Amino acid sequence: MASIETVRTAAALRHRIAAWRSAGERVGLVPTMGGIHDGHLALVHAAREGCDRVAATLFVNPKQFGPSEDFATYPRDDARDARLLAEVGAELLFAPGLEEMYPEGFATRVSVSGVTEGLCGPHRPGFFDGVATVVCKLLMQALPDAAYFGEKDYQQLRMVRRMVADLAIPVDIVPVATVREADGLALSSRNDYLTASERQNAPTLYRVLSAIATRLEGGQGSVADLTVWGLGELEGAGFGPIDYLEVRDADTLEPVEVLDKPARVLAAAWLGKARLIDNVAVRPAR
Ligand code: AMP
Repeated sequence: MASIETVRTAAALRHRIAAWRSAGERVGLVPTMGGIHDGHLALVHAAREGCDRVAATLFVNPKQFGPSEDFATYPRDDARDARLLAEVGAELLFAPGLEEMYPEGFATRVSVSGVTEGLCGPHRPGFFDGVATVVCKLLMQALPDAAYFGEKDYQQLRMVRRMVADLAIPVDIVPVATVREADGLALSSRNDYLTASERQNAPTLYRVLSAIATRLEGGQGSVADLTVWGLGELEGAGFGPIDYLEVRDADTLEPVEVLDKPARVLAAAWLGKARLIDNVAVRPAR
């Protein structure tokens, strides 16, 4: 059976990773909040391809949950998570307690402006600062060569890239394509909150984003018209409230009106108790 070593302190984590790196091995880090599914495992697969050693982290970060969000009920099964991560070749798991990450007196907040200002930003106050703070800390604790993040959380990925560039953190940030169910629904720990009938309607989100991307690429409609169409489709499938459905520059996340550079169609919308987010690429015709 595959085995994984679990460490609870930053000192132990850094010691193990530093030993690998000083032996000339490239180390990839995969940060997660647990609730491991095939999306997380794709990050480990990508890290295995790009690196000699893979370390994962498991920490449900209270700083990225709002007061009315699901911190208390977020899925937690550390033994299952460790087993799944081990099976795909992660060798080290950093699973710190709250005290290790946020000891008494902790007073620092990492805040990235610009890319965090629209989309999920206004709907989840404090979320991106919480993510930036914990990712910055995990990167400093681990000091890996590379860290892997899913494109499913596209705004988060752009933010992490910005932060690492701005703070000159010496790590390569590697994006990994979104893993989906056969019907297109992006895998997420929060999909478990869907009822059976909501689950049937959930793939509409990806279908709408893909249709908008295809039509934009084919010159069949403006950003404004296709956005209105998409909102109607989502409402018709029972989504609501719809936090946003927008086309943004793939790099800067600035709003896009005319498709002349690589862009992204992004949405976040509630379906029952689940807030689903997804995004797809749009490439301008050459
Ligand atoms: P989380 O545990 O939800 O914080 O996610 C940990 C990492 O897994 C983040 O980099 C996510 O973007 C990534 N991730 C989550 N779901 C997926 C998915 N369906 N496909 C690819 N990556 C994902």
